[in-house]
Amino acid sequence: MAEPLFPLLSLARLRMETDGAGVTTLVAGAGCPLSCRWCINKRLLKEAKAEPVTAEELTERLRIDDLYFRATGGGVCFGGGEALLHADFLRRFREVCPAEWRISAETSLAVPPDAVRTAAEAVDFFIVDCKDMDGEIYLRYTGGDGALMRENLRLLLSLAGAGRIRVRVPRIPEYNTAEDQARSAAALRALGVETVELFDYVIRPDA
Ligand code: SF4
Repeated sequence: MAEPLFPLLSLARLRMETDGAGVTTLVAGAGCPLSCRWCINKRLLKEAKAEPVTAEELTERLRIDDLYFRATGGGVCFGGGEALLHADFLRRFREVCPAEWRISAETSLAVPPDAVRTAAEAVDFFIVDCKDMDGEIYLRYTGGDGALMRENLRLLLSLAGAGRIRVRVPRIPEYNTAEDQARSAAALRALGVETVELFDYVIRPDA
Protein backbone atom coordinates (compact mmCIF):
# COMPACT_ATOMS: atom_id res chain seq x y z
CA MET A 1 0.00 0.00 0.00
CA ALA A 2 1.26 3.51 -0.82
CA GLU A 3 2.63 5.49 2.09
CA PRO A 4 -0.13 7.89 3.30
CA LEU A 5 0.83 11.56 3.06
CA PHE A 6 -0.35 14.43 5.23
CA PRO A 7 -1.01 17.81 3.49
CA LEU A 8 0.88 19.97 5.98
CA LEU A 9 -0.13 23.63 6.20
CA SER A 10 1.58 24.76 9.40
CA LEU A 11 3.07 23.76 12.75
CA ALA A 12 2.53 25.68 16.00
CA ARG A 13 4.92 24.55 18.73
CA LEU A 14 4.92 24.79 22.53
CA ARG A 15 1.20 25.20 23.11
CA MET A 16 0.19 24.73 26.74
CA GLU A 17 -2.99 22.91 27.76
CA THR A 18 -4.99 24.21 24.77
CA ASP A 19 -5.18 20.99 22.72
CA GLY A 20 -5.40 18.58 25.63
CA ALA A 21 -2.84 17.77 28.32
CA GLY A 22 0.73 19.02 28.41
CA VAL A 23 2.88 20.76 25.84
CA THR A 24 1.53 20.23 22.35
CA THR A 25 2.47 20.95 18.79
CA LEU A 26 -0.55 21.77 16.64
CA VAL A 27 -0.21 20.28 13.16
CA ALA A 28 -2.63 21.88 10.68
CA GLY A 29 -3.58 20.02 7.52
CA ALA A 30 -5.46 21.04 4.38
CA GLY A 31 -8.99 20.03 3.52
CA CYS A 32 -12.39 20.28 5.18
CA PRO A 33 -15.76 18.93 3.97
CA LEU A 34 -17.73 21.75 5.64
CA SER A 35 -18.24 25.40 4.70
CA CYS A 36 -18.82 27.17 8.00
CA ARG A 37 -19.85 30.78 7.62
CA TRP A 38 -17.41 32.20 10.17
CA CYS A 39 -14.53 29.79 9.57
CA ILE A 40 -11.31 31.54 10.58
CA ASN A 41 -9.24 29.20 8.41
CA LYS A 42 -11.27 29.63 5.22
CA ARG A 43 -8.63 31.62 3.38
CA LEU A 44 -5.79 29.41 4.60
CA LEU A 45 -7.64 26.23 3.60
CA LYS A 46 -8.43 27.59 0.14
CA GLU A 47 -5.26 29.40 -0.80
CA ALA A 48 -2.32 28.02 1.14
CA LYS A 49 -0.15 25.47 -0.58
CA ALA A 50 0.12 22.30 1.47
CA GLU A 51 3.33 20.32 1.73
CA PRO A 52 2.81 16.53 1.56
CA VAL A 53 4.80 14.78 4.31
CA THR A 54 5.15 11.15 5.36
CA ALA A 55 4.63 10.05 8.96
CA GLU A 56 8.39 9.51 9.33
CA GLU A 57 9.20 13.00 8.03
CA LEU A 58 6.67 14.62 10.33
CA THR A 59 7.94 12.64 13.32
CA GLU A 60 11.48 13.86 12.68
CA ARG A 61 10.34 17.48 12.49
CA LEU A 62 8.38 17.21 15.72
CA ARG A 63 11.15 15.40 17.60
CA ILE A 64 12.67 18.74 18.59
CA ASP A 65 10.02 18.88 21.37
CA ASP A 66 10.28 15.24 22.40
CA LEU A 67 11.54 16.07 25.89
CA TYR A 68 8.68 18.53 26.50
CA PHE A 69 6.12 16.00 25.29
CA ARG A 70 7.48 13.29 27.57
CA ALA A 71 7.92 15.54 30.62
CA THR A 72 4.39 17.00 30.46
CA GLY A 73 2.34 14.15 29.01
CA GLY A 74 1.77 16.19 25.88
CA GLY A 75 2.31 15.48 22.22
CA VAL A 76 0.80 16.27 18.88
CA CYS A 77 -2.63 17.66 18.01
CA PHE A 78 -3.83 17.32 14.42
CA GLY A 79 -6.19 20.06 13.25
CA GLY A 80 -6.87 22.03 10.14
CA GLY A 81 -9.12 21.63 8.37
CA GLU A 82 -10.50 18.27 9.25
CA ALA A 83 -7.97 15.92 10.86
CA LEU A 84 -10.02 12.76 10.29
CA LEU A 85 -9.86 13.21 6.51
CA HIS A 86 -6.35 11.85 7.06
CA ALA A 87 -7.22 8.84 9.22
CA ASP A 88 -4.87 6.47 7.36
CA PHE A 89 -2.04 8.91 7.93
CA LEU A 90 -2.91 9.13 11.64
CA ARG A 91 -2.70 5.33 11.90
CA ARG A 92 0.73 5.37 10.26
CA PHE A 93 1.90 8.26 12.45
CA ARG A 94 0.87 6.30 15.57
CA GLU A 95 3.04 3.41 14.37
CA VAL A 96 6.17 5.48 13.80
CA CYS A 97 6.12 8.24 16.42
CA PRO A 98 7.38 7.57 19.99
CA ALA A 99 4.77 5.65 21.97
CA GLU A 100 4.88 8.27 24.75
CA TRP A 101 3.59 11.05 22.50
CA ARG A 102 -0.08 11.74 23.09
CA ILE A 103 -1.97 12.16 19.84
CA SER A 104 -5.09 14.30 19.77
CA ALA A 105 -7.29 15.35 16.86
CA GLU A 106 -9.71 18.20 16.25
CA THR A 107 -12.67 17.00 14.22
CA SER A 108 -16.16 18.00 13.15
CA LEU A 109 -16.91 14.27 12.53
CA ALA A 110 -18.19 15.20 9.04
CA VAL A 111 -16.34 12.21 7.61
CA PRO A 112 -17.18 8.64 6.53
CA PRO A 113 -17.69 6.27 9.51
CA ASP A 114 -14.66 4.20 8.44
CA ALA A 115 -12.44 7.20 9.10
CA VAL A 116 -13.85 7.36 12.65
CA ARG A 117 -13.11 3.66 13.17
CA THR A 118 -9.52 4.05 11.98
CA ALA A 119 -8.94 7.19 14.03
CA ALA A 120 -10.35 5.60 17.19
CA GLU A 121 -7.43 3.16 17.11
CA ALA A 122 -4.74 5.78 16.44
CA VAL A 123 -5.79 8.86 18.39
CA ASP A 124 -5.67 9.18 22.19
CA PHE A 125 -7.98 12.15 22.57
CA PHE A 126 -10.66 13.77 20.39
CA ILE A 127 -11.76 17.40 20.45
CA VAL A 128 -15.08 17.36 18.62
CA ASP A 129 -16.38 20.58 17.12
CA CYS A 130 -20.14 20.01 17.23
CA LYS A 131 -21.44 23.42 15.98
CA ASP A 132 -25.05 22.54 16.95
CA MET A 133 -27.06 19.36 17.52
CA ASP A 134 -30.06 20.76 15.67
CA GLY A 135 -30.01 19.54 12.07
CA GLU A 136 -31.43 22.74 10.56
CA ILE A 137 -29.03 25.05 12.36
CA TYR A 138 -26.16 22.73 11.50
CA LEU A 139 -27.07 22.67 7.81
CA ARG A 140 -27.54 26.42 7.64
CA TYR A 141 -24.20 27.15 9.31
CA THR A 142 -21.97 24.40 7.87
CA GLY A 143 -23.74 23.23 4.70
CA GLY A 144 -23.28 19.70 6.07
CA ASP A 145 -25.38 16.81 7.39
CA GLY A 146 -25.95 16.95 11.15
CA ALA A 147 -27.23 13.36 11.16
CA LEU A 148 -23.81 12.15 9.97
CA MET A 149 -22.08 14.07 12.76
CA ARG A 150 -24.47 12.68 15.40
CA GLU A 151 -24.13 9.09 14.13
CA ASN A 152 -20.35 9.39 14.06
CA LEU A 153 -20.37 10.75 17.60
CA ARG A 154 -22.36 7.71 18.77
CA LEU A 155 -19.85 5.50 16.97
CA LEU A 156 -16.87 7.30 18.49
CA LEU A 157 -18.37 7.07 21.98
CA SER A 158 -18.79 3.33 21.56
CA LEU A 159 -15.24 2.84 20.25
CA ALA A 160 -13.21 5.32 22.27
CA GLY A 161 -15.34 5.93 25.39
CA ALA A 162 -16.43 9.26 26.83
CA GLY A 163 -13.13 9.74 28.69
CA ARG A 164 -11.27 10.28 25.43
CA ILE A 165 -13.71 12.84 24.01
CA ARG A 166 -14.34 16.54 24.63
CA VAL A 167 -17.16 18.16 22.66
CA ARG A 168 -17.14 21.90 22.03
CA VAL A 169 -20.39 23.74 21.31
CA PRO A 170 -20.17 27.34 20.11
CA ARG A 171 -22.72 30.09 20.33
CA ILE A 172 -22.65 31.34 16.79
CA PRO A 173 -23.77 34.90 16.05
CA GLU A 174 -26.74 34.95 13.63
CA TYR A 175 -27.08 31.14 13.68
CA ASN A 176 -27.89 29.90 17.19
CA THR A 177 -28.75 31.24 20.63
CA ALA A 178 -27.69 30.48 24.19
CA GLU A 179 -30.86 28.37 24.45
CA ASP A 180 -29.91 26.36 21.35
CA GLN A 181 -26.46 25.89 22.85
CA ALA A 182 -27.96 24.61 26.13
CA ARG A 183 -30.24 22.24 24.15
CA SER A 184 -27.20 20.88 22.30
CA ALA A 185 -25.35 20.35 25.59
CA ALA A 186 -28.31 18.43 27.02
CA ALA A 187 -28.60 16.29 23.87
CA LEU A 188 -24.87 15.52 24.01
CA ARG A 189 -25.06 14.48 27.67
CA ALA A 190 -28.05 12.27 26.84
CA LEU A 191 -25.85 10.52 24.25
CA GLY A 192 -23.21 9.84 26.90
CA VAL A 193 -20.78 12.72 26.37
CA GLU A 194 -19.24 13.68 29.73
CA THR A 195 -17.13 16.70 28.81
CA VAL A 196 -19.02 19.48 27.04
CA GLU A 197 -17.44 22.88 26.61
CA LEU A 198 -19.63 25.88 25.75
CA PHE A 199 -18.05 28.99 24.30
CA ASP A 200 -18.85 32.06 22.19
CA TYR A 201 -17.55 32.77 18.72
CA VAL A 202 -16.10 36.24 18.40
CA ILE A 203 -16.58 37.48 14.85
CA ARG A 204 -14.03 39.79 13.27
CA PRO A 205 -15.64 42.76 11.45
CA ASP A 206 -13.92 41.76 8.16
CA ALA A 207 -14.99 38.07 8.31
S1 SF4 B 1 -15.20 22.62 10.29
FE1 SF4 B 1 -13.64 24.08 11.00
S2 SF4 B 1 -12.14 24.22 9.33
FE2 SF4 B 1 -13.99 23.26 8.47
S3 SF4 B 1 -15.14 24.97 7.58
FE3 SF4 B 1 -15.90 24.66 9.68
S4 SF4 B 1 -14.71 26.05 10.98
FE4 SF4 B 1 -13.62 25.85 9.00
